[in-house]
Amino acid sequence: MEHRSPGLKTARINNRIKILSVVGARPNFIKIAALARAFGPITDIDFRIVHTGQHFNFLLDEIFFRQLDIPQPCCHLGIRADSPNRQLALMLQGLEQTFLSETPDLVLVVGDTTSTLAGALAAVKMNIPVAHVEAGLRSGDRNMPEEINRILTDNVADFLFVTEQAGVDHLFREGVSEEKVFLVGNCMIDTLVRFRDKIRDAQVRLPFGPIPEKYVLATFHRPSNVDTPAGLNAMTHLLESISREAPVIFPLHPRTRAQLEKHGLKQHLDALPNLHLTEPLGYFEFTRLMAQAALVFTDSGGIQEETTFLGVPCLTLRSTTERPVTIVQGTNELFPEPDPALARSKVRQAMTGQWKTALSPPPLWDGQAGRRIVDILIKKLTPIR
Ligand code: UDP
Repeated sequence: MEHRSPGLKTARINNRIKILSVVGARPNFIKIAALARAFGPITDIDFRIVHTGQHFNFLLDEIFFRQLDIPQPCCHLGIRADSPNRQLALMLQGLEQTFLSETPDLVLVVGDTTSTLAGALAAVKMNIPVAHVEAGLRSGDRNMPEEINRILTDNVADFLFVTEQAGVDHLFREGVSEEKVFLVGNCMIDTLVRFRDKIRDAQVRLPFGPIPEKYVLATFHRPSNVDTPAGLNAMTHLLESISREAPVIFPLHPRTRAQLEKHGLKQHLDALPNLHLTEPLGYFEFTRLMAQAALVFTDSGGIQEETTFLGVPCLTLRSTTERPVTIVQGTNELFPEPDPALARSKVRQAMTGQWKTALSPPPLWDGQAGRRIVDILIKKLTPIR
């Protein structure tokens, strides 16, 4: 692995350090909200957002900018592509132009999406230092597109900001040098902490009527669960089965909706009396529903962390997690086999309060991760200006 000296390219005399952050998808927005807020008041740093256009649906994109006070992007690449490679290629091309005109001192990327990888690769090819927020997470499952994004992004990053100790351990095992790695906490939790009043007060209006007193909240969109007929059928059977135990609220990710429609399963789910499909929800509405759920049944990455922080039972329809602290210390349990009878018994367990309780929140999940990242970057970048 090539070793570059972080910050060497950042020499700007009497000038502000320019950081460009590349985002594109829903989980990126929740994290960048925390960083935009932390960088906002720092006069030495000019913090800007570049949007690749990976998510463009209002409910997956703009609503988060509005609700979370995220500054408008300085540049929107508007990329629409029908395959992952084309998407990545177009992003690299667009980002190269953006970096040439904006001349950033540092490119900052968050999470594990295609936009994350594109930002990191485009920057490293142009010899611009890279910071990766949420570095070091590993599921060990290379069939997940996100796992490849994580590994490659970490490999080229100069600053690796980590949410949990397991991430630090992975990076050291992979040979990343100690001075690049910083355990700082979790920006997604920063956003949850910052907006807790708005979340508590959120008015959630659902198309099917009032929110049930006790319910399961479900979200699925990972390719392994929705992109193959087998995964989709298994998920549908599980949902049908648990809806016999409790009302289920299921905000549909567009990818999941498209697949259900394609395979003729949406009508089937629509007809189930205790299963309520909705559009994707805004952040305040979704996190309010999450905080009050008896159980969250998901394949999301971030939701495993949010439920642990909120102390809400979480069942993750996957055989691995890159966020082990949510299992060891939190409320998360993996559900590797799509076994409907077991799922029903898990729902009964959660509905009757017989779920493991979270220990205290994981270390540094205290709403201050963004501030720690700012402090570190100022210290590391300033002396060489
Ligand atoms: N989320 C939301 N509305 C929804 C579903 C999820 O605001 O209808 C939020 C959720 O609280 C979390 C983030 O979106 O903060 C997670 O995004 P997603 O599951 O798409 O991404 P992942 O974490 O799996 O990469």
